[in-house]
Amino acid sequence: MIVEPPSTLRLTVNREALAANWRTLDTMSGTADAGAAVKADCYGLGVETCVPVLRDAGARAFFVAHWSEVADVVRHIDPEQVAVLHGVISDEEIAYAKAIGAIPVINSLDQARRWRAGGGGPCHLMVDTGINRLGVAPNEVGDEAIAALDIDVLMSHLSSADEEDDAVSRLQLTTFRTVIPQVRHRAASLANGAGIALGPDYAFDLTRPGLALYGGVPRADMAGQLRQVAFVEAAILQTRTLQAGDAVGYNGEFVAQNDMPVATVSLGYADGFLRSRGPGGALLHGDIALPLLGKVSMDMVVVDLSQAPDLEEGDWLTVPYDLRDAAQQSALSQYELLTALGRRFRS
Ligand SMILES: *Cc1c(COP(=O)(O)O)cnc(C)c1O
Repeated sequence: MIVEPPSTLRLTVNREALAANWRTLDTMSGTADAGAAVKADCYGLGVETCVPVLRDAGARAFFVAHWSEVADVVRHIDPEQVAVLHGVISDEEIAYAKAIGAIPVINSLDQARRWRAGGGGPCHLMVDTGINRLGVAPNEVGDEAIAALDIDVLMSHLSSADEEDDAVSRLQLTTFRTVIPQVRHRAASLANGAGIALGPDYAFDLTRPGLALYGGVPRADMAGQLRQVAFVEAAILQTRTLQAGDAVGYNGEFVAQNDMPVATVSLGYADGFLRSRGPGGALLHGDIALPLLGKVSMDMVVVDLSQAPDLEEGDWLTVPYDLRDAAQQSALSQYELLTALGRRFRS
């Protein structure tokens, strides 16, 4: 008999909140449809859990970065609704694309030629309007290699949509508009999650939210519209009472000034709880903040139990995952807080 392994870590995905966030972003997208960025295992929250929820909410266009991410998604989604942002950089990838049926996002003239030479078929085209990562340059879209493509979605990506000042986004929008009439395509797409909040000019036919689906708040003006999706808890492994002068953890960076109760908790940097979330941060018992003491270890942290001295071994503590607050507190981005969640949450 196979039994579920017991765990001292819990990641709970609120499926209702995830579906509600997609619907909110779809509504904010106006006449455009909202798709869903599901790369990096749905930003760390799990394709298996999240993709069916997004599909049932109404999403029809899914984006991953790597070909290695496709197989898990197409268990739930028609392959022609799954796009691979990194495109095709080798014949091996083209063969895989053909076999699995997902759609490459062509990012360069070389990729365009390679895709055609490999037999072609529907693809998307990324035009780089200023982020300078992936995509063909606006002055390359007239090339015959582009004319020969069967382009479904013509897209570009905003570099600074999360900034209050929209000057860079407006420049990218202007460039994207000059490209649109030059390329044969069925649909156009520019906005990521933050870009949706920039208004209807940015929506075109399809938007591509990611972080905001999973409860991140990419712009202050989106606060209050998106619900927290990821809830994280860790169990107490042991409690003890420190004597004045006792030092906690590697290098003894916290030294008790008085006798105090503390708890050792099953959570460490291998779980994505990085050292920058340490001193100054806290875990929670209900509304009570339990300050972190000393360095974060690979598998453990120690918290001050003075405000909740009755807690014991096996009790669960909440790891703060209000993403805006946690990002401010830890100097990590909301994206990093989600995608850093470790494998031990998956069991
Ligand atoms: C990751 C990504 C998205 C989603 O961005 P968010 O900021 O998470 O909304 C959209 N488009 C492209 C090309 C991406 O790489």
